[in-house]
Amino acid sequence: MSDRRPRPLIVPIFIPHLGCPHRCVFCEQKRITSQKDLPVSEEHIIGIIERAIHSAGFDPNRNPEIAFYGGTFTGLPFDQMLFLLETVFPYITKGLFRGIRVSTRPDAVNDERLKAIRHYNVSTVELGAQSMDDQVLTLSERGHSSDDTARAVRLLRQYGLSVGIQLMPGLPGDSADKFHSTVTKVIDLKPDMVRLYPALVIKGTGLARLYEKGIYHPLGLGQAVEICADNCLRLEDMGIQVIRIGLMSSPSLLEEGQIIAGPWHPAFGFLVRSAIYHKGIAPMLPGRGQSKSIRIMAYKLDIPLIRGYKNQGVKLIENRTGAKVVNIQAEDSITPGRIKVVNI
Ligand code: SF4
Repeated sequence: MSDRRPRPLIVPIFIPHLGCPHRCVFCEQKRITSQKDLPVSEEHIIGIIERAIHSAGFDPNRNPEIAFYGGTFTGLPFDQMLFLLETVFPYITKGLFRGIRVSTRPDAVNDERLKAIRHYNVSTVELGAQSMDDQVLTLSERGHSSDDTARAVRLLRQYGLSVGIQLMPGLPGDSADKFHSTVTKVIDLKPDMVRLYPALVIKGTGLARLYEKGIYHPLGLGQAVEICADNCLRLEDMGIQVIRIGLMSSPSLLEEGQIIAGPWHPAFGFLVRSAIYHKGIAPMLPGRGQSKSIRIMAYKLDIPLIRGYKNQGVKLIENRTGAKVVNIQAEDSITPGRIKVVNI
């Protein structure tokens, strides 16, 4: 069943590739984030935060956080790192934001940096781990090992920080089995949250060159949904929140020709959540040939998950059972994740 815990309200500030020691094979942050104006100025940062505070969706009761994403925050020159933190810190002291989160690389985490970010109320660090398989990390030109990730998680914990881990199924050399092992190792590290971003082939990346030479073969959409659904369930069963599945669609990423290949879908996360839901309700459906037509009753918020993207979920149920789904009805007495099926 899908995780229904509230998601944090995050106001992102993108610092594309800043602090990165090199370019990883799959990464094109400028296209992913649609941001071209560098370096990130004080005016730019304050503009983002002020717009967020004055937007209709801003609610201080949702414990909002300011996030620096898209680069290696703890790999920035020290002065630049402090400049970014000092620029946003007044919004923390005024009580408008609960804290700051940053994304970084596992090999850019050390005592000096963590002491500094703790001083400015950084509460969460998201590590771009991508894989816990050293061969996959080498082929993806990450420049760090799975041991670096394990060491970084331990150090972040020592500083009392919440830990997020970003994982990328479908990288060069990866497979469903290897990704399963990656998630087993991640579960052992007990992060607070995980993001799942299946690898896409984005124009201008090393991965695009490997793909064009026929050396790299990305996951198909169905495979990526299956891998993410299985592993999302495993993580959530162990109490680890999966806060994002699939990349956000930024305007420049959606420009024609920017995504060359790979399991891109505008509603990828929803496809995965719907696949998870359908795995859960499969034992509650009648066997094939047992019914001619059925009504399904479910918890109201589950109805879009049953229907699936463009009604694909209904077709799946009809194929599984051989019965026509006559209607799907909301029923308050039904627990989330469960259904009642009536023959009609
Ligand atoms: S994946 Fe992370 S470390 Fe690698 S280039 Fe992109 S932002 Fe930098």
